[in-house]
Amino acid sequence: MNVRSQISMVFHLDKCIGCHTCSIACKNIWTDRRGTEYMWWNNVETKPGTGYPAKWEDQEKFKGGWEKQNGKIRLKSTGKGRIVTNIFHNPHMPSMDDYYEPWTYDYQHLFNAPEGPDQPTAKPISMVTGDYIDIESGPNWDDDLGGSPVYGKNDPNLEGLTEEQKLQLFSIEQLVFFYFPRICNHCMNPACVASCPSGALYKRGEDGIVLVDQKRCRAWRSCIAACPYKKVFFNWFTGKSEKCILCYPRLETGQAPACFHSCVGRIRYLGVVLYDADRLEAVANLPKEQLIDGQRDLILDPTDEHVLEGARKNGIPDSVVKAAQESPVYQFVKVWKLALPPHIEFRTLPMLFYVPPMAPVMANRKNGALNSVSDNLFHDIDDARVPMRFLANLFGAGQEGKVAYALRKQKAVRWYRRAVTVGDVDLETAERMLREADCTIKEAMAIYELTSLCTFEQRFVIPPMYREKALEALRDPHEVKQSAGFGFLSGPRRGM
Ligand code: SF4
Ligand code: SF4
Repeated sequence: MNVRSQISMVFHLDKCIGCHTCSIACKNIWTDRRGTEYMWWNNVETKPGTGYPAKWEDQEKFKGGWEKQNGKIRLKSTGKGRIVTNIFHNPHMPSMDDYYEPWTYDYQHLFNAPEGPDQPTAKPISMVTGDYIDIESGPNWDDDLGGSPVYGKNDPNLEGLTEEQKLQLFSIEQLVFFYFPRICNHCMNPACVASCPSGALYKRGEDGIVLVDQKRCRAWRSCIAACPYKKVFFNWFTGKSEKCILCYPRLETGQAPACFHSCVGRIRYLGVVLYDADRLEAVANLPKEQLIDGQRDLILDPTDEHVLEGARKNGIPDSVVKAAQESPVYQFVKVWKLALPPHIEFRTLPMLFYVPPMAPVMANRKNGALNSVSDNLFHDIDDARVPMRFLANLFGAGQEGKVAYALRKQKAVRWYRRAVTVGDVDLETAERMLREADCTIKEAMAIYELTSLCTFEQRFVIPPMYREKALEALRDPHEVKQSAGFGFLSGPRRGM
């Protein structure tokens, strides 16, 4: 067992109000510079929708992530061997059309326009060419447009839905959407790291944050093609790739990343998990339907004696282990099985997990409320406004059971708390619902508290950072061979 620690995240989608505060917090700190105008390291999408860049989930188009060939996984797009053939043009790279042409407004005209019969206007100006433009798309152009034929109907997650299910999703009286905030997933098996011919991308040994070494980046842009989540961006001004750094300077001083700190809906949780790096490659190679359980199995019980011994042997400080024991992410992902990875079939093993949204999805189509009960206590999940298949394509690698499990448990907790606090539903039925949802009363209370009553300190369990003890500080990171996503797994040098 090779125990490693990783900072990981949970976003609780039931709580996201789509306010975009997170995106603005990030933009103001990190991408308010020349060459980064079009970059949104944090963005919030409306689902169903095409997202940013448009249709990023469509790997037929972008060829991101890993694929299995002859029993082994390999990068779908640009690997070291294949970069040469695409050196001048990679047909699968997102272009400005897929993002958007960044613009500002001619504000000066408001002040300098000559006197005339009309109010002066501030026309949009391209931040690329400086010319006046007609705005045709933007980073959240499809905001709240879940039912639109242009955006909603082009969502790649609609694959496999029957015509009846699509009708259910898009008929005007029943329109439904939910928000999907996204940042880099700081994956366990990052395709971006594996694809870089210069070894400029690396995963920090002590906490798994994925970074781009700006000095080593040679503008190959293979990371941009390889990341299936399209969370690496090219700065046209500096000629280097850039991406979310999980606000590591804030983390190192004990503060949550800006998007977490500013989140109005308090949907974001951050904590350490311990995992077994020796099994990472085997898990990334599992059949698609076993990937969710495989990744969960990789995450280790931070109270287990063998794990603690392994952590000590690998030099993981006790304070980091303690943070892992208090990690909200461990509870949501491993213990409660409420949080699921997005598109794990891309095989990068993302370390950002999502609690699938219940309220917008389940507000019953026929009764318009959550509080209906029949012999089948969970009938309104089966009859959800968003077809389970859609959610399963997004969060369950196509398996509806994984998403249904999380929604059933959420409903049972909500029902139980309603019985306790409001008293307008039957406690006995609520307890039966908990049992059928594989949830004890103790667990229901813990879920309720961490979802609804959590303090700042419970949401963000940030371990003390030990940069001076980190792998990179002990050896020249440029010597680290990063031949694959597993390349960072050589482990800390014993005895150093
Ligand atoms: S592959 Fe994973 S770690 Fe790399 S940029 Fe994409 S989301 Fe982030
Ligand atoms: S700040 Fe929080 S609630 Fe608002 S859009 Fe971002 S993730 Fe959602």
